[in-house]
Amino acid sequence: MAQTPQTLTVKLDLSDTGSQIAQYIRQEIKNRVAAIDPQGVAGTVADAIDRVRTLHRQEYGCCAECTHESGVVWPCATIRAIDGPTEH
Ligand SMILES: [Zn+2]
Repeated sequence: MAQTPQTLTVKLDLSDTGSQIAQYIRQEIKNRVAAIDPQGVAGTVADAIDRVRTLHRQEYGCCAECTHESGVVWPCATIRAIDGPTEH
């Protein structure tokens, strides 16, 4: 008789600083990221993208950064480039 895989699904708030399980998983993620990205390039890129998104934010249906005299409809080309192609 074939065994049925046993699974347990739980929701865990990784930002819960009081949870030892969340703390363990956060540290485990840091260790694994450090192993594959010792220079922290991923974090540097993520920070740069955050700065671009802070500039190119939506205001009244247009991009706050790209809109000058004429409105540039949201999302602007910069945000579309970051988000990548979307399926239609
Ligand atoms: Zn823009």
